[in-house]
Amino acid sequence: MTRTVYVNGEYLPENEATVSIFDRGFLMADGVYEVTTVLDGKLIDFDGHAVRLQRSLDELEMQAACSKDELLEIHRQLVERNGIVEGLVYLQVTRGSDGDRDFVFPSADTKPTIVLFTQNKPGLADNPAAKKGAKIISIEDIRWGRRDIKTVQLLYPSMGKMMAKKAGCDDAWLVEDGHVTEGTSNNAYLVKDGKIVTRPLSTDILHGITRKAVLRMAAEAQMEIEERLFTIDEAKEADEAFVTSASAFVMPVVEIDGVALGNGTPGPIATRLREIYLDESRKAAI
Ligand code: PLP
Repeated sequence: MTRTVYVNGEYLPENEATVSIFDRGFLMADGVYEVTTVLDGKLIDFDGHAVRLQRSLDELEMQAACSKDELLEIHRQLVERNGIVEGLVYLQVTRGSDGDRDFVFPSADTKPTIVLFTQNKPGLADNPAAKKGAKIISIEDIRWGRRDIKTVQLLYPSMGKMMAKKAGCDDAWLVEDGHVTEGTSNNAYLVKDGKIVTRPLSTDILHGITRKAVLRMAAEAQMEIEERLFTIDEAKEADEAFVTSASAFVMPVVEIDGVALGNGTPGPIATRLREIYLDESRKAAI
């Protein structure tokens, strides 16, 4: 099926949508993005994504392409026009193009490029992978130092996923100075003696929208949370582990670098948090 996508003010069939070859997103990875999940045809945590998008734009001194209300309308239009019940809305804003290539930013009145499209993912919430749990390898974190900005510079995370696949695993955790920063496209947690441990927010990691929601829900469920650095060795000795992201929700981790966690199956805390998160998010979806 040909999707309807949104490009710079227009809804178009995907094969008619175009962006300049001089676009800064294409030439310089000078762009930011968001991925919002759709469940039951509704948007999960739209507000959180809109706020983080604005923060990313501000940090890079980039113009917003449209208002938050317009953004919500575009998301809803695309979900409806493409008949998405379970899936994702991808949004990208770049610094646009002034018709040439230059390291220097184009003038401030250059129009940003905005592109949105949907991805249909039936069965996203009921993903069988969550019942099996994910196998993780650890790799060195060699990304740039502003990982709190959600830029489209995704080559290293993409390479990390490929390294994991080659090793027969599902994903990679990134390690800097012996401490886990995060997953290639998710935030990382371990559970030891009933306590959830995750790295505190800083410029070292993306401030996950799902992370924020899950930590709030865990606190409401009287679970103990410790935000501190942890090593990959500590993670291997944990009772359980998991990752969070908008599209994976809460995904249990059952193996790290070939070491099984607990009995090698999804742990009770990760499993419970996934249920709570899906339940609460569906209720609050718009
Ligand atoms: N960390 C990284 C590096 C990511 O790319 C992502 C999501 O793409 C996350 C964490 C999770 O963020 P969110 O929960 O907002 O999807």
